[in-house]
Amino acid sequence: MTQKLISRFFEPPYAITLEHYSYEAAKKAFVQMRPQAIEAEVKKSNLRGLGGAGFNCAMKWSFVPRNTGKPIYLVVNADEGEPGTFKDKYILTYAPHLLIEGIMIAAFAVGIHKAYVYIRGEYEQPFLNLKCAVEEAYQNGFLGKNILGTQFDLDVVIHRGAGAYICGEETGLLESLEGKKGYPRLKPPFPAIVGLFGCPTVINNVETLSYLPFIIQNGGEWFAALGTEKNGGMRLFSVSGHVERPGVYELPLGIPLRKIIFEYAGGVCGGRKLKAVVPGGLSAAILTADEIDVKMDFDSLRAAGTMGGSGGIIVLDETTCMVEALQVTMRFYAHESCGQCSPCREGTGWIYRILNRIVSHHGRLEDIKNLTDIGMFLGGTTICALADGAQMTFLSYLKKFRREFEAFIQNKEMACQH
Ligand code: SF4
Repeated sequence: MTQKLISRFFEPPYAITLEHYSYEAAKKAFVQMRPQAIEAEVKKSNLRGLGGAGFNCAMKWSFVPRNTGKPIYLVVNADEGEPGTFKDKYILTYAPHLLIEGIMIAAFAVGIHKAYVYIRGEYEQPFLNLKCAVEEAYQNGFLGKNILGTQFDLDVVIHRGAGAYICGEETGLLESLEGKKGYPRLKPPFPAIVGLFGCPTVINNVETLSYLPFIIQNGGEWFAALGTEKNGGMRLFSVSGHVERPGVYELPLGIPLRKIIFEYAGGVCGGRKLKAVVPGGLSAAILTADEIDVKMDFDSLRAAGTMGGSGGIIVLDETTCMVEALQVTMRFYAHESCGQCSPCREGTGWIYRILNRIVSHHGRLEDIKNLTDIGMFLGGTTICALADGAQMTFLSYLKKFRREFEAFIQNKEMACQH
């Protein structure tokens, strides 16, 4: 059994109120450490961004200029819209004070006095729990002026989204936070330089920030040693689909995917055979049942042609029709494309329409070539990574399950077993 860090709060007594939470790491950081020492520990920890991109956290902080005369903002990405991903929801619901403590530590390290939490609109209970925790933190001197008796001030503002996937993309999120349509921005400039309201901005995911208290308490090297060489520590995996025990599992980076599915999640439902796995949220290339010995860290997954992404693992058993699974997947992207870039707006729409025709048994064999051609032009030329994610997942289905698509079109009968 691996140790529990964040996930220890997912069982009673929950850390929803200060009755069951004390800010020991923040006290240590504010009273005993200097901001540079905190950054040094985070650097040693090899903590990666756990929202999707997997970018090194300390390096992200280091890009922020500290001497522009402008305020620096911290924006917490709590939009968690990637299908198959629900771990931040657990943190926001059961451990909101842990997140606030992570925000305090990051803000103190970088010299930030205002933080915004952009929370997914559908997350009603997580929002309420976070709101109560923020109020409680203000009342007890963990937020506001002269925190913990120091000269340091920090305010936290919670902002609720309205249900658009694209507002989880960091620059779309910034636009939305500024009161505009959530259209992703062209980069550069990157948010570290020109972010919220034109000011330098750190954008971190909920889970990433929630590991900071453990790093401060136990040291960066301790955290790094829990994972692999360049992928420090643990992460929360959301496991859903055809498994006996779906849920959120906190495990070391580098653990084999097979072990997560068959040991922790209890294997495939009803003893059926495994067919495919999405390893890192919907936008990660799908893996076949033969590919699940891959290690679940960012670098190993990239080497395997997919990505660690948001840690959302979706398990599909032998009864799954991959044609219909792809149709549902592409409906999502076509619906969520913000429409700024033609390859994304038109490409996802055309792919979805062609898949609809195939699923309604009016497909033609040349559709597979047409789909491949459209898919090749989908990514790499757009403003944000939505199109790249759609391309990665789409082409992986076509490549790895091509025979099933051909059989579906030719036989009119399902190639799978239901
Ligand atoms: Fe919008 Fe798609 Fe372009 Fe991203 S890639 S900015 S979602 S149209």
